[in-house]
Amino acid sequence: WNEETVAVVTGGNKGIGFEVCKQFAIAGLRVVLTARDADRGQEAHQKLKHEGFQNISFHQLDVTDAVSRTCFASWLLREHGGFNILVNNAAINGVAIDEVYLKENNINLKDFLWKQDHGSKGFILWYGSAKACIETNYYGAKYITQALLPLVRHSDQGARIINVGSVMGQLTNLRNAKLQRELARLECLSEAVIEGMSDKYLNDVKQHAWGDKSWPLKFSCYKMSKIALHAYTRLLATQLEKGFPDKMIFVNCVDPGPVRTDNTAGMGKFSPSEGAENIVWVALLPCEECRSGKLFSGKKLAKY
Ligand code: NDP
Repeated sequence: WNEETVAVVTGGNKGIGFEVCKQFAIAGLRVVLTARDADRGQEAHQKLKHEGFQNISFHQLDVTDAVSRTCFASWLLREHGGFNILVNNAAINGVAIDEVYLKENNINLKDFLWKQDHGSKGFILWYGSAKACIETNYYGAKYITQALLPLVRHSDQGARIINVGSVMGQLTNLRNAKLQRELARLECLSEAVIEGMSDKYLNDVKQHAWGDKSWPLKFSCYKMSKIALHAYTRLLATQLEKGFPDKMIFVNCVDPGPVRTDNTAGMGKFSPSEGAENIVWVALLPCEECRSGKLFSGKKLAKY
């Protein structure tokens, strides 16, 4: 990797994504910080520039917006000739809280978030937030990857796609052994299977029937979005191996660990910089140590 290596990060304006941009810049790469909100993105970009990092550029990218994805892909090709590393970091947690209920019952938000199930009073799991969560965390990552794949630049190190996953997306979080087995079998996996499961889940949320079914309870839609993202990563790894054997495109999921960001309401064992370190470590692994279609938790391989 060198100053010609182009590393794109989605959701780079804050949290783990911001620190990933910084660490790539420290490693001497050409960083493309993206953010859905142009002002927040520019501000983050300026902050890094003031810290002395000149090898960073910014472009708006809302991963859920087809027009934004297309504009970004054209700009990336024009300005940088494509990319070598893509970190699909952008995500939302899909959690909606009934703050009035919490206030009326004198319940502390942090205690509540970690102790309660999504089905319990005070948590709102409404169709809109569940749908947005899956659209951002799964479809957003999938569609931006598909838009950028034709722009992979040649490098002796191959190319890297990191989907920021989570142990919350491990298959054991599904309360249905048959579904777990179905998703585990790579030979049966397809986008239709993954999306069929997500559609069924969202339909159950719509009908207020999700709690009695196979779906995860606590942080339900976030877990479902990461389960789908992990499954897609395994599928994509096999597709890339067959479709672009000469380009050596490695795709993996990385769980950064429990990190104190807005996503966790500031709770977690690690700082954003420590979480980012795990992502950057996997992204920059030497080619001969690279695997594809894996889930890393921290710097270790974990079970899907
Ligand atoms: P933050 O909430 O701090 O950051 C999320 C980022 O994603 C923000 O920049 C946000 O932008 C951006 N984003 C949200 N929606 C979109 C969109 N449609 N298009 C582009 N960008 C978008 O969370 P974290 O830093 O904690 O999370 C980063 C990643 O790490 C996520 O994938 C998360 O699931 C994962 N993760 C985090 C863990 C943790 O403990 N923190 C644990 C395991 C995984 P905006 O500022 O505009 O909202």
